[in-house]
Amino acid sequence: MSDLILKMEGLYKSYNPGKSNVIPVLQDCDLTLIAGQVVSLVAPSGAGKSTLLHIAGLLDTADSGSLQIVGQDMANADDKLRTDMRRMKIGFVYQFHHLLPEFTAVENIMLPQQATGLRSSVARLHALELLDQVGLADRGHHRPGEMSGGEQQRVAFCRALANAPKLLLADEPTGNLDPETSDHVFSVLMHLVRATGMAALIATHNMDLAGRMDRQVRLSKGQIL
Ligand code: ADP
Repeated sequence: MSDLILKMEGLYKSYNPGKSNVIPVLQDCDLTLIAGQVVSLVAPSGAGKSTLLHIAGLLDTADSGSLQIVGQDMANADDKLRTDMRRMKIGFVYQFHHLLPEFTAVENIMLPQQATGLRSSVARLHALELLDQVGLADRGHHRPGEMSGGEQQRVAFCRALANAPKLLLADEPTGNLDPETSDHVFSVLMHLVRATGMAALIATHNMDLAGRMDRQVRLSKGQIL
């Protein structure tokens, strides 16, 4: 089905496999996301949310199970395909912005575009358009250190969306912000996601924010409920 963006089936992941201190995290975990759907991933700390997001975002690999992203098999993909998919199809947002401090907001958003070979003039224009969408049109020349936490995170959203991914993965994207800023930044994120029709999986502890998404999934005992 063409609007199937993420399909995980029977995923297992443990840390320190084969050792006495093995930590089983995902155990026969299944999850499907379709285009346009915004899903909250809710679970207590330590339940495996980051592990699941990192596997879905091709930042880590599962021990076994199947993983498809936009219809492509990722469980058996080579490094080049994984890198291309991560660059072109997936956007990732962390709790902390992870912007490069020596680059301006515009430059931070240009970098992933230039990594795909896009001309810098085109990447710059697109970065400015994205900043405009998040209400930061006049802050493009500022470095992250000159911006507030909420502004930094809005720039991080623009960077994650710079290559128009099909799948957005966010790990507690507003977890580091005060409640009012968190609310605003979350609204901005939802607006961006809705405007593109991508699928999004957003880990959060905030039940109010989780309730504003289309679907809630819980991770318990290594499985999606
Ligand atoms: P969450 O994001 O829900 O807080 P994590 O995915 O970060 O959970 O972690 C799930 C479990 O895996 C925790 O018990 C954590 O301590 C453990 N864990 C995470 N990363 C590693 C690692 N690199 N090595 C060993 N254990 C890890």
